[in-house]
Amino acid sequence: MPPASPPHETPLARTRRARKIDRALAERYPDAHCELDFRTPLELLVATLLSAQTTDVRVNLVTPALFARYPDAEAYAGADQAELEELIRSTGFFRSKARALIGLGRALVEGFDGEVPGRMTDLVSLPGVGRKTANVVLGNAFGVPGLPVDTHVLRVTGRLGLIDSEDPVQVEAELCGMLQRRDWTMASHRFIAHGRRTCHARRPACGACPVARWCPSAGLGPMDPEEAGRLVKASAHVVGVIAGG
Ligand code: SF4
Repeated sequence: MPPASPPHETPLARTRRARKIDRALAERYPDAHCELDFRTPLELLVATLLSAQTTDVRVNLVTPALFARYPDAEAYAGADQAELEELIRSTGFFRSKARALIGLGRALVEGFDGEVPGRMTDLVSLPGVGRKTANVVLGNAFGVPGLPVDTHVLRVTGRLGLIDSEDPVQVEAELCGMLQRRDWTMASHRFIAHGRRTCHARRPACGACPVARWCPSAGLGPMDPEEAGRLVKASAHVVGVIAGG
């Protein structure tokens, strides 16, 4: 369960705290960004679907060959399942992912002339595409602000007492209500960077945390700066390579 927010905090005070936290995270992680490699909305949509249960680093290893073999929605729609499986095998769950990509290609061809739509309602109508994936594509490929909520965003915002829910849809709605629309996409990247590098699931580096002063969970991990500093990861890339998470 996420911790309670600071006692007697009004909605306005919580909003102010959320924005201070976002600014502090922006200073700590100026390099936070979408870590999936892509050139087009379709490539990002495919990469995001492949990233389920694996790391962005691992996805980036398979996508160059995948994107070369399947350059458009028609190619996925007509793909040979076994051949597609081989190309994405190392990302795990490759059978269901291959089925999903073929289904996605067909839905794009049948409903959207083979193009990835740039609206939330259309994106979530595609098979296998939920709000998180749709927000990733909207925010990073279309420049439409969106706040994808993944496991890191859930954990970090819960510990910070910003959100009382563990339902990603509600968390997204509440966070969007507190942050300025123009900041939604980057705020998600920053919460994810904080979760990967500092506010780890098992042992958060509270003593090296730039937002500890606004966090009701400070002390969950070591508060000693040296001990905490040793827990901080240099970059999400390093974490992905080391932890596979
Ligand atoms: S103080 Fe600790 S629990 Fe709170 S956000 Fe920072 S690392 Fe996470």
